Amino acid sequence: MTNPLLADFATPFDTAPFHLIKNEHFLPAINEAIHLAKDDIARIKSESLPTFENTIEALDRSGKKLGVISTIFFNLNSAETNDEIQKLAREISPLLTDHANDILLDQVLFQRVALIFEEKDTLNLSAEESTLLEKTYKSFIRNGAKLTGEDADKLRQIDQKLAQLSLKFGENVLAETNKYVHFVENEEDLDGLPDGIKEAAAQIAEEKGRSGQWAFTLDYPSYIPAMTYAKNRELRKTLYLAYNTKASKGDELDNQETIKNLLQLRHDRARLLGYASHADFVLEERMAKSPKTVLDFLDNFLQKAKPKAEADVREVADYAQKLEGLETLERWDFGYYSELLKKEKYALDDELLRPFFRLEKVVDGVFQTAEKLFGITFTPNSDISAYHPDVTAYEAKDRDGKHLAVFYADFFPRAGKRNGAWMTSYKGQFSEDGIDSRPHISIVCNFTKPTKSKPSLLTFNEVTTLFHEFGHALHGMLARGTYESLSGTSVFWDFVELPSQIFENWCYEKECLDLFAEHYQTGEKIPAELIEKIKNAANYQQGYLTLRQVSFGLLDMAFHSTDPGQITDLRAFEEEVMKKTDLLPKVPGTMMSTGFSHIFQGGYSSGYYSYKWAEVLEADAFELFLEKGVFDQETALSFEKNVLSAGGSEHPSILYQRFRGRDPKPEALLKRSGLISA
Ligand SMILES: [Zn+2]
Repeated sequence: MTNPLLADFATPFDTAPFHLIKNEHFLPAINEAIHLAKDDIARIKSESLPTFENTIEALDRSGKKLGVISTIFFNLNSAETNDEIQKLAREISPLLTDHANDILLDQVLFQRVALIFEEKDTLNLSAEESTLLEKTYKSFIRNGAKLTGEDADKLRQIDQKLAQLSLKFGENVLAETNKYVHFVENEEDLDGLPDGIKEAAAQIAEEKGRSGQWAFTLDYPSYIPAMTYAKNRELRKTLYLAYNTKASKGDELDNQETIKNLLQLRHDRARLLGYASHADFVLEERMAKSPKTVLDFLDNFLQKAKPKAEADVREVADYAQKLEGLETLERWDFGYYSELLKKEKYALDDELLRPFFRLEKVVDGVFQTAEKLFGITFTPNSDISAYHPDVTAYEAKDRDGKHLAVFYADFFPRAGKRNGAWMTSYKGQFSEDGIDSRPHISIVCNFTKPTKSKPSLLTFNEVTTLFHEFGHALHGMLARGTYESLSGTSVFWDFVELPSQIFENWCYEKECLDLFAEHYQTGEKIPAELIEKIKNAANYQQGYLTLRQVSFGLLDMAFHSTDPGQITDLRAFEEEVMKKTDLLPKVPGTMMSTGFSHIFQGGYSSGYYSYKWAEVLEADAFELFLEKGVFDQETALSFEKNVLSAGGSEHPSILYQRFRGRDPKPEALLKRSGLISA
């Protein structure tokens, strides 16, 4: 029996043969594909004189089979996994890391790349080729290819230790989260909580052996609703304190030393590679370019948001005072009274909106929006194999009716799927020998499922999520690059959310909502005043929320641009940085760094600012659509050509300027958020 992963797929559009793939095919296929990839590298090294074509371009073209197989494997590990696949992932991941390191630490290969890089000005390269050369060269440098002897060893040791420390950080947070449970015995202590949340709390208690009681944990789906809806102040305080003292209690799960070690090693690593700080190292490959740009950016938002944030907090404090005579608004009160106030101000809730957002209609609306803007059409194609019966495969065609992409949509939760929503690809786009090889794109979500009596009716939040992920998908589907490593969503991190976030804007526009938002029973179109309410509610407490994001961004930057030798007392350091943005009384003993997984476990170090950064780009870019019309063809075509199709072929600042005619400005976002007057 041949391994279907290694054989020619012989499927429509060369799509993954999911119906043939079994778990036991992965490991042998990956091993064989690594072999093939190593042959590619050997071939490159055996060429006599290094040229752009035989080295830089050839590297981009190398290891294609390995790319396809590992992509299928890791996509399934997120969307349709099981114990066996998870076990395989632990085996396969180190194989791939080793393989990548073998390439980036290959001195012969690096010498070839470096030689071409030194001559780059004489080579007459196109912009895309220059970008590929620069990116390839930098990937070697940033991985330490220039280091020799002791320094090279030191870098490997640091990398290993960093991987261990990040893991340990995450394990401590997880252990702290998992070991905590708070039981409630009297039902009246649950006043204010929606029935669904109470049910979930009863179920947790039952699982923990206390039937007839209710239990809360520090998991988001348990903690957040309790803080938002529980009338009982003591309950909120108890949970708040538990949440905000995670991994900081001086026991074996305390993360403070782990953080200090992480910061020191990141700093050492950056210095070894020739950068002033970890932030400088990270930001070199970001649209923002330097720590100074990020700090100025955050400071601008701090100045603009603070007065409005203070007003937001005052409004809630006054409201709580009037409502229940609350003397001091504490941190565990803010979410609760904010929610009550929001209800009073906007009279808007999910259940009011759901009937207008039947999933099938919303998907149709997303497709229509893509057609009106970019001329793309979608047709379901059941000949394309899918990895689960819930998944629908489509063929997308461009405005000339030519094949554009394969598109998989996977909407409902199930046991083998992780939480959240994301876009991914099974095959990237590239062009070789004059043939444009089109991509296979997928979006995966966890939306409200249909029941026996009701179709899938989405919350407004789920609608914007769908538009968001579809925006990423457009970035993938409309890709028109030459090189796979620069194509589609392969762009700098602080640029990748522009296509997704801008696409969310259409959900707030009547012209777009009228395409699909109608009551699933009566067919009534969504009323204009409801759209107005959605818009207003979206701007609720924008001052406070902005300031909060800015505070996390500032803390992240402070950690990664300071010499860690100066951070002796982590708690004091955090307090000092957060002072500028604190609007509620500080609670002694609490801290956030020890649970700040984004920057100490995930990949957001020196990158937290990028949430706000992407919003600036998205609001500024959408402003042009608002001026010219949300379905204006010229603007859509320019956005397609300069952003969506261009991928990472050039620096994002250049691409953005081409679309907008100038650099991005924060004013559109500040206006939309009500932080400056319109
Ligand atoms: Zn996104």
